Amino acid sequence: MAQEEESYDYLFKIVLIGDSGVGKTNILNRFTKDSFNFESRSTIGVELAWKNLIIGNKTVRAQIWDTAGQERYRAITKAYYRGAVAALLVYDITKHDTFEGVPRWLAELKLHADPNVAMILLGNKSDLRHLRAVPMEEGKALAESNAMSFIETSALEATNIDMAFESVINEVYKIVT
Ligand code: GDP
Repeated sequence: MAQEEESYDYLFKIVLIGDSGVGKTNILNRFTKDSFNFESRSTIGVELAWKNLIIGNKTVRAQIWDTAGQERYRAITKAYYRGAVAALLVYDITKHDTFEGVPRWLAELKLHADPNVAMILLGNKSDLRHLRAVPMEEGKALAESNAMSFIETSALEATNIDMAFESVINEVYKIVT
């Protein structure tokens, strides 16, 4: 692809983590391709996508890694986290168990990622208001107690997806420049 040849000033590796089914792949596809899929994908293996952002007069390439189902087998390796400057930790606001899974993901990050990795907690599927099982305040409180930003998102409705990525990317950009 011709676009692939485009130059950039900074490359930021960003990882998506969180329990299976919370919407990681759709968050990635919404951000990089502005697309959404109602089907749950079943293929296994790490997937990568990227998007260039202009910050100031610099081009930042956000290279985003998606577990692509490996979390189901607890098979995420150290290589997945290596070199990541930011992590988006996702739960599903309609499934409390995915929220209860957040501390385990934080422990994984502490173990494998750089101690300075920028983190944001995403409560996804905010469009499913009638099925909410995790109050927004709970998400906010958990994020605060772990020095993370927090935002509720909907990959389906494209709510706060750009904002979530831009927020961590800007945070990292401020640190590296
Ligand atoms: P992953 O396993 O974390 O990568 O999750 P997927 O992206 O495969 O999504 C799992 C399921 O949730 C799929 O059926 C998606 O269509 C659905 N889904 C993902 N994001 C949203 C969202 O924001 N709102 C709604 N209603 N469904 C979503």
